[in-house]
Amino acid sequence: MVKKIGILALQGNFQKHKLILDQLGVESTYVRYSSSLDDVNGLIIPGGESTTMTKLLDRSGLFESIVSFADKNPILGTCAGLIMMANNAMDDRVNTFKLLDIDIERNASGRQIDSLVESLTVSYDNIQKRIDATFIRAPKIIRHGKNVNVIAYYKGTPCAVKSGKHVGLSFHPELNGVSLFHEIAFNNIINNKEGLHAA
Ligand code: GLN
Repeated sequence: MVKKIGILALQGNFQKHKLILDQLGVESTYVRYSSSLDDVNGLIIPGGESTTMTKLLDRSGLFESIVSFADKNPILGTCAGLIMMANNAMDDRVNTFKLLDIDIERNASGRQIDSLVESLTVSYDNIQKRIDATFIRAPKIIRHGKNVNVIAYYKGTPCAVKSGKHVGLSFHPELNGVSLFHEIAFNNIINNKEGLHAA
């Protein structure tokens, strides 16, 4: 079976994630129905608008399916995707998956016009890498639990976290062509090229 990554494509900025996976030589598919999760080994929850995503997830029946999928498979969430993975989004209109023990303040970086590109240092597995990251109406991680590993900070606040097999980012690496976080989250799938292309 070819290993594949799903990209939640109900709403928001999902196409650029596909380009990153194409560059990495990883098969991917857009996920709009629960049944698509049967064919994938990891999932990306893209940026967008978490209140809208909440409504669409509820309507499509995908909410429960993603919660059980996340038990066994890695999830990478960016921006609104990070909000959806949090324990608490501090907003009744957003129903989160509770995959990361973090609390969030939505839109903490201000309005669309306050969007910015920043250079960050990512520290992971004794490796340090400098990357560019785009923040757009970004959420802020205002609390994180002991089991949450912070792999990058922006102005002293965690902006990239890993907990177990899941990775969450308050910015958009895909807008700067940065594949590092896809490689970290889907390490097992990407490094298992035998498995990737075996019949
Ligand atoms: N502000 C959005 C939200 O609260 C997130 C913005 C983004 O994904 N770029 O859902």
